[in-house]
Amino acid sequence: MADKEDYYKTLGVDKNASADEIKKAYRTLAKKYHPDMNPGDKAAEQKFKEINEAYGVLSDPEKKAQYDQYGHAAFDGSTGFGSGGFGGFSGFDGFDMGDIFSSFFGGGHSSSQRANAPIPGDDIGVRVVLSFEEAVFGCKKEISYARVQKCDDCAGTGAAKGTSAEKCTKCGGSGTIRVQQRTAFGVMQSTRACPDCNGTGKIIRTPCPNCRGKGMVKINKKLEVTIPAGIDDGQRIALRSQGNEGRNGGAAGDLIIQVSVRPHAVFERDGYDLYCEVPITFAEAALGATIKIPTLEGTMDYNIPEGTQTGTVFTLKQKGVTNVNSKGRGNLYVKVVVETPKNLNEEQKKILRSFAESCQEKNFSKRSSFFSRFKK
Ligand SMILES: [Zn+2]
Ligand SMILES: [Zn+2]
Repeated sequence: MADKEDYYKTLGVDKNASADEIKKAYRTLAKKYHPDMNPGDKAAEQKFKEINEAYGVLSDPEKKAQYDQYGHAAFDGSTGFGSGGFGGFSGFDGFDMGDIFSSFFGGGHSSSQRANAPIPGDDIGVRVVLSFEEAVFGCKKEISYARVQKCDDCAGTGAAKGTSAEKCTKCGGSGTIRVQQRTAFGVMQSTRACPDCNGTGKIIRTPCPNCRGKGMVKINKKLEVTIPAGIDDGQRIALRSQGNEGRNGGAAGDLIIQVSVRPHAVFERDGYDLYCEVPITFAEAALGATIKIPTLEGTMDYNIPEGTQTGTVFTLKQKGVTNVNSKGRGNLYVKVVVETPKNLNEEQKKILRSFAESCQEKNFSKRSSFFSRFKK
């Protein structure tokens, strides 16, 4: 995965290319390297696959944003799963297939009328709930989900072992039939899906018992997914080709992992920065002290100066969350709040009263200036 070519480079566009420019570049390349145009050319087939994969990502605003942010890691995770088997037509979501086919096949056919046209598999969404620490430090999670994939027993043909599908005699294997219709405008000729074979061009005499002739089965799949350190609540990880398998060589969909992160007991997170409030005593605030501060790595000692006011925020640089992209870290902002002592005994009250009596204006500069401003 490491030496995988940049998707922008694959399509020959720069990173700031508009959606239209990307689409245009894709079409030009897809036509040039389409397997129908280069029969038996393995290099062209590989190139076609790469173009489709790149376009599948860059044409989808959400996937593109993820790719721009995380690069290939956004889709490969560290699971070691690359993109699935060769599927000629990945990434066509929202893309007019008929359009591109009409330029290949002289306009007569649209993809929906072609027997056995590749149909891409759907994406599958899975929600994963992480603890605050799992999100901050990254983790491995086993994910199980239901996936539609090719039936192993019949290798996706739908025909029972030892048998094979026969060519449909009604449509001659094309999957479509021509029908003539008398209408107010005269006789109209149109094509429609063959009723005998449901447009597949094939008849299965002995259906595979495992998939009941469908060629596809739903299985429960388990996958260990590497969650990158620094991921945040609401973010998504896309694993390429781990969604439903396509039909007729269509590309598999993606597995989209939606991340939810449980809140932490003392830390609030905002992006890569952390916030927390630490209660300190009146004496610590007045005299200065070494206080305990919580960090992601455990508690640490921190010196607050003499005369620290309640609400003062101390910034601990690089003690925040690891940035998923840059691997730098955010900051930890610690707000100290003076806790007024309660349940004082008589002795303590006496000491405090005598302390109060000893105080002068210079001990409370804020208070004195506040009232002098009020008088003006
Ligand atoms: Zn089967
Ligand atoms: Zn037929």
